[in-house]
Amino acid sequence: MPRNTSNRTPGRVLLGVAAVATSTHLLAPGFTGPQGVSSRIGRTALGARRFFIGGNWKANGSPDSVKQLVEDLNAGKLEVDATKDVEVVCAPPFVYLSQVKDSLRKDYEVAAQNMWDKAPGAWTGETPAAMLNEIGVNWVILGHSERRENCGETSEVVAAKTKFAIENGLKTMPCIGEKLEERESGKTFDVLDEQMKPIAAALSGDDWDSVVLAYEPVWAIGTGKVATPDQAEEVHAYLRKWLADNVSQKVSDSVRILYGGSVNDANSEELGQKPNIDGFLVGGASLKGDSFTTIVNSAKAAMSSA
Ligand code: PEP
Repeated sequence: MPRNTSNRTPGRVLLGVAAVATSTHLLAPGFTGPQGVSSRIGRTALGARRFFIGGNWKANGSPDSVKQLVEDLNAGKLEVDATKDVEVVCAPPFVYLSQVKDSLRKDYEVAAQNMWDKAPGAWTGETPAAMLNEIGVNWVILGHSERRENCGETSEVVAAKTKFAIENGLKTMPCIGEKLEERESGKTFDVLDEQMKPIAAALSGDDWDSVVLAYEPVWAIGTGKVATPDQAEEVHAYLRKWLADNVSQKVSDSVRILYGGSVNDANSEELGQKPNIDGFLVGGASLKGDSFTTIVNSAKAAMSSA
């Protein structure tokens, strides 16, 4: 059924956190909801918001389990064309990047989960962008909430890394998202503004071609508390408008915005049909080959709803 954005509820919306039994005023002053924000029409056209699935393996895996996961992913039966309909990128831990790069099906790409934004040299324990390039890793996840929280990465650091990665030929998945207390106190959009501003300041026009933005509400990561499709769509629509207002209409229309936070094979299809959700960054469910394949296949429903 063709997507029709005209029948959405206009005006202010109150959307609480799923399963947390709370309700919050989420919309920022001046933001009147998703109407008027571009839909995903044209997603499947050449170069236009192709659905995207990222798998963040975090610090999980042993040589054997990684081998098994790759075998399961390689055996996965796709109902979509991963060279055309959907873009799939798996992010194993650094020590397995080469192994996965060499053994993973060639219609999936590989990402690092972080990188060092300096040239190679005397940086003990770090992995510079150039080294990722040299082994054929074309993608990097940046500013995941676990790094913001545990490794002290500020929004400025994330923005600087994003710029450096792009200048060094990498495509990037910068992550943003609010904590539970921030959502509950009505600060979601303020937090997103604070996280987006340094990125927008650091990047210039064409840099955005190398950005896939991941909206990951911290309260939904690894908790099983997935945002409802309406909650996620509300924020994605806000971000798309933010990009139009603060970067450009072209960037707003073209940048893919992923949802991340307890996505699994049972909820991906419904989430993916929302017009401003262009795919997912998946944690736990990306460690199970069959679940991840089902999530990749949710691109089919997303495309038919576009
Ligand atoms: C993540 O870590 O990026 C993530 C979304 O994790 P999970 O899917 O397990 O919530």
